[in-house]
Amino acid sequence: MKINSPLQAYKYLPQTNCGECGEPTCMAFASKLIDRSGKTADCPPLVKEKKFAKKLAELEGLLAPEIREVIIGVGEKAAKIGGDDVLYRHKLTFFNKTKMFFDVADNMEEAALVERVKQIADFRKFYVGNYLLLDGVAVRAASGDPAKFAAAVKKVAETTDLPLILCSFDPAVLKAGLEVVKDKNPLLYAANKDNWKEVGELALEYKVPVVVSALNDLDALKTLAKTFAEAGIQDIVLDPGTVPVGKGLKNTFTNFLKIRRAGIDGDVEIAYPILALPFTAWMAGIEDPVSASYWETVMASMFTIRYGDIMILHSMEPYAVLPEMHLVDTIYTDPRTPVAVDGAMYKVGSPTADSPVFFTTNFALTYYTVESDIASNGIDCWLLAVDTDGIGVEAAVAGGQLTADKVKDAFDKSDFDLKKDVNHNTVIIPGLSARLQGDLEDSLSASIKVGPMDSGRIPGWMEKNWPPQ
Ligand code: SF4
Repeated sequence: MKINSPLQAYKYLPQTNCGECGEPTCMAFASKLIDRSGKTADCPPLVKEKKFAKKLAELEGLLAPEIREVIIGVGEKAAKIGGDDVLYRHKLTFFNKTKMFFDVADNMEEAALVERVKQIADFRKFYVGNYLLLDGVAVRAASGDPAKFAAAVKKVAETTDLPLILCSFDPAVLKAGLEVVKDKNPLLYAANKDNWKEVGELALEYKVPVVVSALNDLDALKTLAKTFAEAGIQDIVLDPGTVPVGKGLKNTFTNFLKIRRAGIDGDVEIAYPILALPFTAWMAGIEDPVSASYWETVMASMFTIRYGDIMILHSMEPYAVLPEMHLVDTIYTDPRTPVAVDGAMYKVGSPTADSPVFFTTNFALTYYTVESDIASNGIDCWLLAVDTDGIGVEAAVAGGQLTADKVKDAFDKSDFDLKKDVNHNTVIIPGLSARLQGDLEDSLSASIKVGPMDSGRIPGWMEKNWPPQ
């Protein structure tokens, strides 16, 4: 049994409201445990006092996710995978984004290797207030030579601090790579029916996570995972094989579903994160590289949705990477929490006392759309994001989260003074909030102009309506 409500978690806490966890009450702390923003170790009485030892052990068991969480790498950029409790995002949320690792090979020229690693490390895309980034580098032992592999791993580790996957079925090659990055917690790929004993020993000796691999054979995969778990290896990732086309692709998809369903339903022997290998698209006999990239993106999308926790990819073309990044970000956005920016007054460009003053809501998608429509047209202005709990303009007006009082409150809380910082005492409001015009004139004691319904029309609207007469 798992628990999923603060009230259930509260029963296991000391219930003294001592505040040592930084929360005013044990119930508030229980909420943090449930949404995973807090951990049991943050409650000193629970951890230190002997009388709570049994409750602590029970609580940790009840809070542990169905799918084991595995960490690859170290430090801020370490990649957390797995850790989910549900099959469908709307039932709770998915916690750890699918991690995208890109391959390099140990037979690449050194300059090309370094350039590609830099490309992986530097790739970024600004999207609703955050940078979307790539997650790691998978170093393939194409040479089969331990010394060459170790040299390539060294060069990669010198170039980036992103987490690494070391890829070879030869234990001697893996060991050579591990020696170079033994303090960086790389993921070993992979143990299979032929090498499991040696690779398992490496995972134990170096205390690193490891992939167990069995192509389209879930019984063998489960046996490998069970054998490793019994040997004391806890950080396991499953590779049921990724076949890029035909019936093999259909089987791959079915295998991913079966593994995750079994894990969520409580089969602990297979409740581990799953590795997908969309880069196998490049082995499908597709001659045109653009078409291979396209197929790799299709496969990555498929296994982002069902249920790849980590992927190895090849194509670095923006037309392949950007859709993958956006899909991952969308699937792993918490549906319980609207994406929001801080409620505040923002400068767009270099506004002066003559510049217009707009407001919108703090729903991130709305805010960045408006900001982008204004900035890309070279309009310098003041843009107030009113805190509506991350709800867009139309819904916020209808739901009462955007009212004249809320807008006045937002102006008051900002360090912007409509009467002093501009010389026109005018506010341009979104067309979708036109019904607030009268109330706003009263509450702000300002001239209120109703802007267009769509921020894309602000430039045309400005030509006709600004400066105010
Ligand atoms: Fe409750 Fe523990 Fe927080 Fe104290 S530290 S308020 S006992 S949860």
